[in-house]
Amino acid sequence: MKTTNDPIFIKEAIKTSSDMWFLGWCEANGGNISQRLEPDKMAGLPLAVKSDWTPARVSLPNLAGEKFMFSGTTRFLRNISIAPEKNLGVIEMDSKGENYRVLWGFEPEGRPTSELPAHLKSHSVAKEVSEGADHVVIHTHTPNLIALTYLHELTTPLLSKLLWQSHVECVVGFPQGIEFIPWMMAGGDEIADATAVAFRKRSMAMWQHHGVFARGRNLDAAFGLIHMADKAAGIYLKAMAAGGMRCAPSTDVVCRIAANFHVTPAPDCIDADTSALMIRRD
Ligand SMILES: [Zn+2]
Repeated sequence: MKTTNDPIFIKEAIKTSSDMWFLGWCEANGGNISQRLEPDKMAGLPLAVKSDWTPARVSLPNLAGEKFMFSGTTRFLRNISIAPEKNLGVIEMDSKGENYRVLWGFEPEGRPTSELPAHLKSHSVAKEVSEGADHVVIHTHTPNLIALTYLHELTTPLLSKLLWQSHVECVVGFPQGIEFIPWMMAGGDEIADATAVAFRKRSMAMWQHHGVFARGRNLDAAFGLIHMADKAAGIYLKAMAAGGMRCAPSTDVVCRIAANFHVTPAPDCIDADTSALMIRRD
């Protein structure tokens, strides 16, 4: 584990990416992380222009001039701990929010993740709807949640309600639910737009057969949401493997838990009928 005088955001990225690796969420170059950086976060980091302006395939005026930490394309999240300067980079957006240039990292040379448009569009919405509080986007390949998308024809209400009923604290962690996005080609504009739209209402979006996106105020917050959702999916799969969800929490119980913690379950999800998903079909 690298121990230096790195800024705290790099130490946090090392902690988060290492945890993601140990949980089996980021095989090879799978998964990517990004963080919008306030100027004080970069104190002590030797920033210098390292690339020309490069099209980011977005036009996001509310990100003009913003700086971001990104994991690199083709780089492995599990290697951030031994060489953050190779596997992470800091980029700066231009005055129109359309092009970026590298200011640090991606040694010896490189670029941000191929999911750059999805991250930037997500950051744009996150910044707007959270009034600047949300700074982080994580994308990762969580095995339990992915398996769930192979098991059933899901919708946003069904997936959200099922997770709330599979781990009783989920409704407190993500009362707005989790958006289900049917399969689309990764890296494309269509899935980037769908993810950003999802983030207007919710803090997580599940890409069918692929992985999950989450936004949060910091790495811990986004990581925690994903961890909670994937654990719920794992509990569901275990219960189904053991015979089925014969005594899952009712809608009333989910609502009472939510009320106890002063949150409101998403109205478009709470009434979903998940009963057919709790019975084994074999
Ligand atoms: Zn992916």
